[in-house]
Amino acid sequence: MNLLESSSPPPSPAQVCGGEADSGSGVPPLSARTECAPYPPGSAREAAGLSSREAAELNLRFAGQTTQEVLAWAWERFGNRAAIGTSYQGAGLVMMHLAKMAGLTFPVFTLDTGLLFPETLALKRRLEDFYGLKIQALEPDLTVEEQADVHGPELWKRDPDLCCTARKVLPLRGKLEELDCWLTGLRREQSHARAAVEIVERYHLEEGTGREIVKVNPMAHWSREQIWSHIRQHNIPYNPLHDQGYHSIGCMPCTRRITEGQEERAGRWIGFKKVECGIHTFLPKKVDFQI
Ligand code: SF4
Repeated sequence: MNLLESSSPPPSPAQVCGGEADSGSGVPPLSARTECAPYPPGSAREAAGLSSREAAELNLRFAGQTTQEVLAWAWERFGNRAAIGTSYQGAGLVMMHLAKMAGLTFPVFTLDTGLLFPETLALKRRLEDFYGLKIQALEPDLTVEEQADVHGPELWKRDPDLCCTARKVLPLRGKLEELDCWLTGLRREQSHARAAVEIVERYHLEEGTGREIVKVNPMAHWSREQIWSHIRQHNIPYNPLHDQGYHSIGCMPCTRRITEGQEERAGRWIGFKKVECGIHTFLPKKVDFQI
């Protein structure tokens, strides 16, 4: 499949916010939507309004479509209530580029734990210049020093799950409450834990209220080689640590270089039985209808 070529033009914002008819996307017409104004966080409204059958049908359809077509669908369906979350791994950079080329102006956010590499912080500024946008940095309630006062120094060495919850999961959760759709750079090839990632997934954001979030993983089927070919072809800024043996780059205390043949995320949380920080596992998944 050609990952880059799109057969459909990008929808205009008017198609998203102005209530125009469905353009054959297989989703309900947009006529019920009058504007993109946010509704209150925690609203009982089922935010995404995506049924299990729709999600299953979309996954079948997207298996034969380009990444840009997936992104165009997300824009048409959710407008700026869909946002790209990135930690500047290769897939996120490519996704931002594909969205930019298609004129899809998704908001972009990142998690700044206060423990990122200087190279990562510099990359944020380079990407903002390259893409001409502002990347929102979500920060934890406590600084690293305040966390040390509360939990003792270097919590990541003793309880990385608690550290990740405080510095990543909780800030992300607050952000997701503003959204209907979270666009990620997850790829199936990254690790065993991610091998079954679907392009469209539905999660409970607040159990008991019906509030849900649609997670879209448009890069799920991309290989590492395809990612880096695209980055080099388009001169996209990337983290220079990738040229120094780091494949998956997170916080400084929990990121190590890997050797050839290891899983891409093998350099994270060395010494712990921990393979995910929690941002992709803390929400209960809704079970999709099987067709
Ligand atoms: Fe803490 Fe490490 Fe998680 Fe960063 S990756 S939040 S330092 S445990």
